[in-house]
Amino acid sequence: MKKTAFITTLLLSCFICTFVYSQTVVIKVGHLIDPATGKVMQDQIIQVTEKKITAVGANVEIFPTDRVIDLSNSWVLPGLIDAHVHMTFGLPPYAKTNSDWEMYFLKETTAYRALRGMRKSIEALEAGFTTLKDIGNDAEYAMIDVRKAIDEGYFVGPTLLTSGKIIAAFGGQSSGFSHEQGPFWQYEYIDADTPDEIRKAVRKNIYYGANTIKLVADNGIFFYTEDEIKAAVSEAHNAGLTISIHVMGGQAATNVITGGPDSIEHGFELSDAQLQLMQEKGIVLVGTDFPLEHLKAMGSTDEKAKKTADKIVDRLKRAHESGVIMAFGTDVILDLPGMTRGQMGLDYLKVWQMAGIPPAKILKCMTTNAAELLAIQDERGAIAEGQFADIIAVSENPLDNIEALKKVNFVMKDGFVIRHDKEEMTSK
Ligand SMILES: [Zn+2]
Repeated sequence: MKKTAFITTLLLSCFICTFVYSQTVVIKVGHLIDPATGKVMQDQIIQVTEKKITAVGANVEIFPTDRVIDLSNSWVLPGLIDAHVHMTFGLPPYAKTNSDWEMYFLKETTAYRALRGMRKSIEALEAGFTTLKDIGNDAEYAMIDVRKAIDEGYFVGPTLLTSGKIIAAFGGQSSGFSHEQGPFWQYEYIDADTPDEIRKAVRKNIYYGANTIKLVADNGIFFYTEDEIKAAVSEAHNAGLTISIHVMGGQAATNVITGGPDSIEHGFELSDAQLQLMQEKGIVLVGTDFPLEHLKAMGSTDEKAKKTADKIVDRLKRAHESGVIMAFGTDVILDLPGMTRGQMGLDYLKVWQMAGIPPAKILKCMTTNAAELLAIQDERGAIAEGQFADIIAVSENPLDNIEALKKVNFVMKDGFVIRHDKEEMTSK
């Protein structure tokens, strides 16, 4: 989106926000999708009072004072959820060699990272992602400030879950730097190498405002033991927070699965037996299933990128067949030219289709399953009375063609109209 259009959208949104909150809104819906069941109900009415949905049905009464939004030609569904993002990262394409990745810890301030995080979060919201789980690599807690700024109403943005610093074994996700340079990675990571250090790291993140926890279990040659994973899980759960753990496979993944977090992130090397164990324990897979073009842009050779992409499609297919619960997550950390962060996230849909996953299941992973993983299912992830009004619309049925989600034409966040493309807009 061009800068002028972006600013116009923001101004328009602010105008509409004020307008919306002054009266009850009713949305006339042509086709209402319930992602939990995959069912579609025709000719429904959604009533929104301030931030929440106050009624849904075919016979909801419309009063003369109500503001009416006509989506009678659209398919309407709950806002989408991306359960794995890093909104303060924006590496240039083809630059993610190890040194380039780590240079950004040294080159960019927390303030600058927060501004990028705000901008990328708005881009995701405009594409239809109304909730994001942002799990680290945000310098000195930048995304917690972004979350606070949205909560204060300084900006209209998505609902954010933010982890603060990533907890990892010594060195974070860096490798091979001289001991003379000092532990610069601590700008992004907390070093934690025993169960006690892990407990302290979890408490530190919570103290600084984290509302979810993230560990990296197996970056480099170290990986966490079962006891270390259990320390992190119990500390997070005792504080009422969910915990996500980055792990690829092997013994490290077995330790993580046995330790019992809420989700495993990536898991590109998970075996069928490990997927089965996750299914039995109710651990969610957030697969971050990178498209080939994104892997190439991250600096892989064509051959290596193809090999990884094939592995990702195979693991996604096996995960689908195993019955493990999955939630949609992207892990975008760079900017492809001409694409917003939201558009880059929706680009992952092609990988899910390559793995043979039906549209109804993909949609459930992007809404119902993700809301349950984030423990916000009583407030978000469905269109029902009592839920916050996070509502999007598309002009084609995404249950027939999931790619329809790439053309979201209406976004409502907490009752605010963020986006309503002109050709469909009528009100009285
Ligand atoms: Zn990530």
